[in-house]
Amino acid sequence: MTMKQEVVGQGIVRLSAKKKGPVIGVVCNVHGNELCGRKAVHRILSNYEIERGTLVLIDGNPNAALLGKRYVNADMNRMFTPKQLDKKNPKQDLKRAQYLAKRLPKLGLDQVIDFHSTTSETPHPFTVSFPGTKEMTSLCPVPQIFGWSGIVKGTLIEWLCNQGIPAVVVEAGQHEAQSSIDVAEQTLLSILSHFGLITPKKPIKFKKPPQYKVLERVMIGDHDTFKFKKDYSSFEALKPGETIAKDKTQIYKAPNKKGLMMLMPSTQAHIDRKISRGAYYLMQKI
Ligand SMILES: [Zn+2]
Repeated sequence: MTMKQEVVGQGIVRLSAKKKGPVIGVVCNVHGNELCGRKAVHRILSNYEIERGTLVLIDGNPNAALLGKRYVNADMNRMFTPKQLDKKNPKQDLKRAQYLAKRLPKLGLDQVIDFHSTTSETPHPFTVSFPGTKEMTSLCPVPQIFGWSGIVKGTLIEWLCNQGIPAVVVEAGQHEAQSSIDVAEQTLLSILSHFGLITPKKPIKFKKPPQYKVLERVMIGDHDTFKFKKDYSSFEALKPGETIAKDKTQIYKAPNKKGLMMLMPSTQAHIDRKISRGAYYLMQKI
């Protein structure tokens, strides 16, 4: 083996080739029950060696992954805010967030991809793309969704982007679906071959995916009474003004505008168990 493997942090391993090249970070299981990225990395490593540049593998929330749960005590992917990162005597998930915030900027990362999956089935995987990530986003063979700045507070990738490290999330599909691993693998092959880290066995080709802009995250007013009008799925078109859901605080209607779509409606089970604070996102085609 010509590539060098070294542990460069807690749950962080660097694979480097002799030939210099870009440093690409792959973040897996920031949510401990979302393992598609990790499985895709294993597939790639069993088939390829890093020929040029550096691949940095980052175990997002290893403790949550041991439990197979989204987090141990609280969602680590909401903790990358100055207030949380400055808290003294961090415990559990926050301790990991603070560690990553300290360690990741010192690894010389040029680009980062962060793999997630979704609770409910989604007809399309998609990217979560921030400003400054056009190149990475264009390498992801899935619909590309921009406009996320400030929509979900405290995510690792928004924080990385703010540190000047372009980082993109791929929501690869449903947690347990085999297709989520395939999507993560195709995305990795595309990124790693583009930056010259590997030479793909077959050329990577895909049609330019459609692009969208997320407009709003709609929050739940009252969990106990919240009910969707029907079973919505991601990428479903919404009629102007259509009633989407109701609870005792309000009727949730689509804005009076054409071309709006539903994104990531929460499941009723998650709402009933008060796991989701948000009900759904609204987006439109660019
Ligand atoms: Zn996730």
